[in-house]
Amino acid sequence: MTEQRTLVGGSGQPPAGLATRAGDLLQLLRSNAAGYSRADLLEFTGMARSTLYERLDALFAAGLVYESTPLRSQRGRPPRALRFDDRNKLVVCIEIGHTHAGIHLLSLGREIVAAARVSVDIRESQEAVAGQAIEVALRLLDGRQAVGAGVGLPAPVDPLHRLGLERTVLAHWDLQRLQEAMEAMLDCPVLLENDARSMAVGEVRNPLESLVAVKVSTGIGSGIIVRGALVRGAHGAAGDIGHVRIPEASGHRCRCGRDGCLAAVASGRALLAAPQLAKYRTLRQLVDACGSDPAVGAAVTEAGRLLGRALAATVSTLNPGRLAVGGLVGVLPDFLAACRRQILDDAFEPSLVDLEIVPADSRTATAVGLCRLVEESLYAPERIEQLLSQRTA
Ligand SMILES: [Zn+2]
Repeated sequence: MTEQRTLVGGSGQPPAGLATRAGDLLQLLRSNAAGYSRADLLEFTGMARSTLYERLDALFAAGLVYESTPLRSQRGRPPRALRFDDRNKLVVCIEIGHTHAGIHLLSLGREIVAAARVSVDIRESQEAVAGQAIEVALRLLDGRQAVGAGVGLPAPVDPLHRLGLERTVLAHWDLQRLQEAMEAMLDCPVLLENDARSMAVGEVRNPLESLVAVKVSTGIGSGIIVRGALVRGAHGAAGDIGHVRIPEASGHRCRCGRDGCLAAVASGRALLAAPQLAKYRTLRQLVDACGSDPAVGAAVTEAGRLLGRALAATVSTLNPGRLAVGGLVGVLPDFLAACRRQILDDAFEPSLVDLEIVPADSRTATAVGLCRLVEESLYAPERIEQLLSQRTA
């Protein structure tokens, strides 16, 4: 596997001025799936041999590093690669939507080991929704222990839980309690993140890429990656473009309580509420009829155009190299084509040079993104330092 593992990591070259704690050594090993020899590590870090070996011993003992087959055949004893031990480590990724939860079990190498879906109703209590998702996750785990779990939520998520959920679909939830309850049920650390933001992380192909991922299902959200780094904003609210006001939505009441939000006219919820589409009871039914019912086709096309209006400002502001549009509505060809046309019309030309506007890999991008975020969090240098000091204490 040649994938660059770290989300924020640069070109695979060791950073200059590398710190030499065990956690930093692990970070370095994680940045290169092929691993490094002891000689490489001595050269990159400038550490004394005895110090390096002491740090590596601690990482070996904690099951975080292993010695793989020889790097290359040559005369004499070939050097062996030291690698981050990602073997047999499972991550539970749960994407909670308005009506369904997708549960994936992934290896740290981002391979999907098992997957399932369950119907949920996000208007219910967090205990009920989380309980249903965890029950499925435990069944997929089948007695195995996960190293961590990531949960994607259709609302802004602030890692410090300071952000109010009052105006969101999760107004009746408490994320701090949700996280603690899920950690107890899964017996591992749980990370909560916005779903569109997780999708954006899962869409990253190149460590220095700038991209925007937009998810259009029942609601609308986006995730922003700038040169490989996830942008959360000062308080975790970055990318919540569903509530950008556009003139075409004037007079339309949004679920957030305001008037004129993009989501009031271009979201799956808005499509389902359109009088001419009243016969569709679920978003899935509506989406499935897009090719055969001209009324659906026209409404979806108009929704895509309106999203393009709002996204043109995002494109002009951030100049992403790729715009990945996902979600049940977002991947519809009519929707995406109309969105693309409007962006090309409205955005400032220099921001459009080489811009790719493509469907997101929406089946797995969110799960892959959550898995990446969980790994970044679990194996962050500070956390590893803490873990190792607890082991020696
Ligand atoms: Zn709104």
